[in-house]
Amino acid sequence: MTAAVLTMPETTTLDAEVRRVFEKQFETAIRLRRSSADERIAKIKKLKLAVLAHSEALQQAMYKDFKKPAVEVDLTEILPVVAEAHDAIRKLKKWMKPTSVWPTLLTGGLKGYIQYEPRGRCLIIAPWNYPVNLCFVPLVSAIAAGNTAIIKPSEMTPHTTAVLVKIIKETFAEDEIAIFEGDASTSTALLALPFDHIFFTGSPAVGKIVMAAAAKHLTSVTLELGGKSPTIIDETADLDLAAQNILWGKYTNGGQTCIAPDHIFVHESVKAAFMEKASAVLKKSYGNSDADQASSPYLTHVVNQRHTQRVAGLLEDAKSRGATVVAGGGVNVADQWVAPTLITNIPKDAKIMSEEIFGPLLPIIGYTQLQSVVDEINANPKPLALYVWSRNEANIQKVMKETSSGGACINHTVVHYLHGNLPFGGVNNSGIGNAHGIYGFKAFSHERAVIRTRFMMAKMFFPPYSGFMKKMVRLLMKFV
Ligand code: NAD
Repeated sequence: MTAAVLTMPETTTLDAEVRRVFEKQFETAIRLRRSSADERIAKIKKLKLAVLAHSEALQQAMYKDFKKPAVEVDLTEILPVVAEAHDAIRKLKKWMKPTSVWPTLLTGGLKGYIQYEPRGRCLIIAPWNYPVNLCFVPLVSAIAAGNTAIIKPSEMTPHTTAVLVKIIKETFAEDEIAIFEGDASTSTALLALPFDHIFFTGSPAVGKIVMAAAAKHLTSVTLELGGKSPTIIDETADLDLAAQNILWGKYTNGGQTCIAPDHIFVHESVKAAFMEKASAVLKKSYGNSDADQASSPYLTHVVNQRHTQRVAGLLEDAKSRGATVVAGGGVNVADQWVAPTLITNIPKDAKIMSEEIFGPLLPIIGYTQLQSVVDEINANPKPLALYVWSRNEANIQKVMKETSSGGACINHTVVHYLHGNLPFGGVNNSGIGNAHGIYGFKAFSHERAVIRTRFMMAKMFFPPYSGFMKKMVRLLMKFV
């Protein structure tokens, strides 16, 4: 673990305050190296109970922040935290056990094992779109792995952040788990400190800033980023299921989900049928008219007016270049609302085709050759998720083998996030490293390679080098 920082200049109150807490966590982090599974489990249980005790306050706060429906708060914020906590509670003893490895020909007589040690003092920086989930799911992993943590939630959801602060302050001492409110300036003050690990969730642009700051201290990072996740629907797909499932994945949380289907490539032969089914699902789920949709209790609003203008700008830009709105299309900036919208006939140079949409707009693009879709995906940064809808195994395998993405679903959308036994993360532009279950535990652990000597074969290789030893090395080259 990195030594306590004693020489950093005290520039502002914020810098001094984050440094004070960071230094306070130094001794605790060392003490926690020896913490047992039971001690860590007790803390995870405390966190879980505190979240459940504040669930109503969190529902109210998220409604104030972006009109997130209470049932979506339960499903997408509180349930994932509870599930992550239960997984760790059940499996932590097993995860913490040193893992023995087979001896190799070169290391006969030695026992090798991996010991999972806490990284030390960790920083968790979270985005606004799932404010509870993305602060507390990594926190469960950080605690499971035996670390201290400082959390920096997003400034964009202030009511929710106030509840998060209350939960952390009521549940933990600041020398173990602390939380700092604030915007980029708070992150910047924290990023100046030599943390042992940074777990960042947010945009690729800020991910690069975080990685550059981490590089100054050679701090390890987990970067959970975003991007444009494509969906492919081929000519054999179950269109009814695809329409229902994709719209659910897209419009939950108002389209503000890192793994939401960003845009759809659909085979021209089924495009009209898919659009008809998708429009019907949209109207059934959220209302027929603009007015019905604007008052739908099932639609999360956009997080603020700036983002509403950004999303509305993408829609206007596409329309001005000839795109057609198939369903939805309503906007009310004052109410931070954009209708769930299906659009098509979008020219390639429209901004919506290059920027992560992160709102309830769903472009539908026709194709005739699957190869051209694969080529287009490969020409862009590797996405966080990719979804393929097909009953043709050759098409499924082509997409899965010829593209890359953080995660993928075949005939489903977004649920890979919920599978606690799968790693969740991106690849290159969409992220580095993984979260969830044992992968989250490992993200917050150092895998220490340990050798324990039983008998010492290495003796025969010590100088002065004999002819026999030279022969042994030659022999080994044949068999290793
Ligand atoms: P963001 O990158 O703007 O902000 C994330 C966090 O970084 C916030 O706490 C913010 O205060 C902080 N921050 C902002 N500017 C900073 C700077 N210059 N220096 C240091 N810190 C800074 O992201 P956002 O708008 O809150 O969230 C949306 C993005 O997050 C999307 O790209 C989305 O795809 C991605 N995301 C990814 C995942 C995932 O698990 N991979 C999950 C949710 C969201």
